[in-house]
Amino acid sequence: MHDVVIIGTGPAGWTAAIYAARADLEPLVYMGPQPGGQLTTTTDVENYPGFPDGILGPEMMERFQEQAERFGTDARYGTVTHVDFSERPFRLLVDEETPVYAQSVIISTGASARYLGLENEQRLIGKGVTACATCDGSFFRGETVAVVGGGDSAMEESTFLTKFAEKVYVLHRRDELRASKIMQERAFENEKIEFVWNTEVVDVLGENQVDGIEVINNETGETSVMDEVTGLFLAIGHTPNTDPFTGWLDTDDNGYIITRPDSTYTNVPGVFASGDAQDHEYRQAVTAAGTGCMAAIDAERWLAENGRVEPASARTTSEPATAKP
Ligand code: NAP
Repeated sequence: MHDVVIIGTGPAGWTAAIYAARADLEPLVYMGPQPGGQLTTTTDVENYPGFPDGILGPEMMERFQEQAERFGTDARYGTVTHVDFSERPFRLLVDEETPVYAQSVIISTGASARYLGLENEQRLIGKGVTACATCDGSFFRGETVAVVGGGDSAMEESTFLTKFAEKVYVLHRRDELRASKIMQERAFENEKIEFVWNTEVVDVLGENQVDGIEVINNETGETSVMDEVTGLFLAIGHTPNTDPFTGWLDTDDNGYIITRPDSTYTNVPGVFASGDAQDHEYRQAVTAAGTGCMAAIDAERWLAENGRVEPASARTTSEPATAKP
């Protein structure tokens, strides 16, 4: 039985752990399938306050973990695969088999950027392939980059990238954008941006860095190499990692957990959500850390007001979590 179980270990999860541990709640943290989260796939992080010389993403997440453990966080490998939020104590199932009971739960499972799934694209993530223009744009000063996508993110990121890059291609698989008119106009008006329509990336070239991309025109079937491209930015959407909570928690149409304004409260009292699992707008390490802090404070106050509940004996067995509503 634990006062607080934190699910996920990006900046939100570890920050929640730091605050919960310092509040003597002895949080238990399940690190999930990608301990450290999305930042472990980036190189230099230059926009997190407090690191004027920048810091490598994986190292930053190790430091978060160290800080959380220093105050008594119990961090364990494992992925929460099912939950039962029907009554308190909440019941979580780790790796499909181990039941864990929690008086309160903080969800910080993050979101995963969508990638195309090409072998060389995956190999070159962090070496010229990225899904975060805000994080990595400034590494491409004076260079030529390509953005894949036709939504608001692609428009926003390509416009942002023109601050650094000499030239930005937007590659879209159709001849019509999904983005809002105002975002489209802004991109159309930018002289550094060139749209390449009906075009899909079929390969990413280069050994240790991106040295070009191979694309296909899906109308003509013609392939070509854009060898001036040294940065490939994916802007084809994110998927929040909220599958285990579907049916229990209110989410928007894209699966992001809905939290009460100005708080991390979900629709289930005692369950709080922080970081990218509930934020499709800002998606920054520092904003995730901020909501992780909020979640720990919300959980602490909620526990103080609502007390602890003993498990009913029928629920102490290791049968799977009850079916989702
Ligand atoms: P999105 O609206 O879902 O757009 C994704 C784009 O990627 C679409 O153009 C889609 O093409 C393309 N795409 C998807 N899978 C692909 C694949 N496998 N290969 C090639 N292209 C692929 O996602 P988003 O742009 O990230 O936006 C998500 C939400 O956040 C939206 O509601 C958006 O309005 C909002 N947002 C708002 C702002 C803002 O207002 N400042 C900024 C960013 C995002 P198709 O069009 O052909 O499907």
